[in-house]
Amino acid sequence: MKSWTCIEKCGACCQIDLRYRKNLTNILSKKDIELIKSMTKKDGWCKHLDKKNMKCRIYENRPHFCKVNIFSKNFREYKKKGDNFLIDCCKEHISFIYGKKSDEMNRFKKKILN
Ligand code: SF4
Ligand code: SF4
Repeated sequence: MKSWTCIEKCGACCQIDLRYRKNLTNILSKKDIELIKSMTKKDGWCKHLDKKNMKCRIYENRPHFCKVNIFSKNFREYKKKGDNFLIDCCKEHISFIYGKKSDEMNRFKKKILN
C-alpha cells in the first residue's frame, strides 16, 4: 500500500498564491488567510522558502497549515481517502510547479512506494 511521505528539495506546496489554492481558502480561518497573504511574495512563493535548496527556513516554527499530514485531516476527502488524498495533493502541486514528468514527480512516486 502507498503511504504518503514528503520528499527533500521539492517545496511545490510552498507556492502559496491563494488564486491557485482555492481548496485552502474554503477551509482556513480569516486569520490564517491574512497570515498566508503576508507570507506570499509577488511571485506566489512563500517568503520563508530557501529557493536555492527548496527548504523551509522556519520549519520548526512553520504555521499549522504547513504541517501537511496534520492539517490535511481537516479535509473531508482525507476522511474518505486517507493517505491517498495527501498523495493526490502532492502530485497536483508537483505537476503544477515542475510538470508530470519531472524529476520531483519521479522521486515522489518512488518514495511513496517505499
Ligand atoms: S508537495 Fe508534497 S512532497 Fe512536495 S514539499 Fe510539499 S508535501 Fe513535500
Ligand atoms: S512556512 Fe515553510 S513550509 Fe510553510 S509555505 Fe513557507 S516555506 Fe513552505
